[in-house]
Amino acid sequence: MPNILAVAETRGGALRKVALEAVTAARALADGSGGGEVHALVFGPPGTAAKVEPLAQHGADKVLVCEHAAYDKADAESMAATIAARAAGFTVVMLSASAQGRDLAPRVSAKLNAPLLSDCLTVRLADSAVTATHPTYTGKVIATLKAGPAPVVVSVRPSAVTPAANAKALSAEAIAPAADPAASRVKVTEVVASGGAKLDLGEAPVIISGGRGLKEAANFKLVEDLAAAFGNAAVGATRAVTDDGWRPHSDQIGQTGRLVSPDLYVAVGISGAIQHLAGMRTSKTIVAINKDAEAPIFKVADYGIVGDALEIVPALTAAVRAAKQAH
Ligand SMILES: Cc1cc2nc3c(=O)[nH]c(=O)nc-3n(C[C@H](O)[C@H](O)[C@H](O)COP(=O)(O)OP(=O)(O)OC[C@H]3O[C@@H](n4cnc5c(N)ncnc54)[C@H](O)[C@@H]3O)c2cc1C
Repeated sequence: MPNILAVAETRGGALRKVALEAVTAARALADGSGGGEVHALVFGPPGTAAKVEPLAQHGADKVLVCEHAAYDKADAESMAATIAARAAGFTVVMLSASAQGRDLAPRVSAKLNAPLLSDCLTVRLADSAVTATHPTYTGKVIATLKAGPAPVVVSVRPSAVTPAANAKALSAEAIAPAADPAASRVKVTEVVASGGAKLDLGEAPVIISGGRGLKEAANFKLVEDLAAAFGNAAVGATRAVTDDGWRPHSDQIGQTGRLVSPDLYVAVGISGAIQHLAGMRTSKTIVAINKDAEAPIFKVADYGIVGDALEIVPALTAAVRAAKQAH
């Protein structure tokens, strides 16, 4: 039976949502191919071990906790060495295709001399080979990739998998780094949070994104108000808008920005250029508001509203507030 090693990401010692996604994907893969074991591997500063219970709740049979002060900021070299040293006996090493996962996965793949399937939407395992779907050509094509035999390194796109409860009794084991972080050639000296207490674009179940159709930076207040009405939404933007300085570059979604797959993506005054679609077309439900009925964004939208965003967004905000109050 295939066993899966899932790397569960932390930030500042706390588990990230992508950690639960990686474990959920690993559990589904193991259960879908005979029911092997899922081991979660967590890196973090001292104290991380006290916070790993959610990994067992999402299906990890065992949690390996590797604590070191350097892991407060991550240390790709020693983490990759530790993952590779622990990979024996696992059919798949599963990571998130987050910024950290995109740094780690190729290193692990190289160390194991194993194939890497990166940024996958779905993953299946049959006859010791992994089959995965992966968006390519800026998301216009979904490629089906196959790799094997084991081990295979796989990274899953953030939010492509919904964390699912599958409670196991917590069985945690402390492990030491396989390589001393002090010897790493690259040191992360500082991590700068982009948006204070705001929800991270990669973690938010709802994203309200604005484009040049909002006319001026001040009108992003309408987008922020709609996001606040949802309560669990982050604000994104097109490159046209971030290049003009209306929003910080960290808000940019697209080929040269963030790749997101929220449950709901609301595109406000966004034309739907392929470079923007590349970052959001795998969202589960897409709503587009645009005054041009021919705008390309409507081709990928599940729901379209043709009209002036400056009128529609406040009405939508009021409707969301009313719906929230009614529940
Ligand atoms: C190499 C490269 C990489 C790129 N990477 C990215 C990327 O990562 N992300 C990205 O977003 N872009 C990227 N771009 C830019 C991309 O090609 C587009 O220029 C950009 O996405 C357009 O942004 P926009 O939709 O906000 O603006 P526009 O294309 O100007 O669209 C504005 C839209 O608003 C609508 N509108 C106008 N007024 C209203 C109104 N009152 N109410 C409702 N709708 C209204 C218009 O009908 C129009 O459809 C990249 C380009 C290149 C060349």
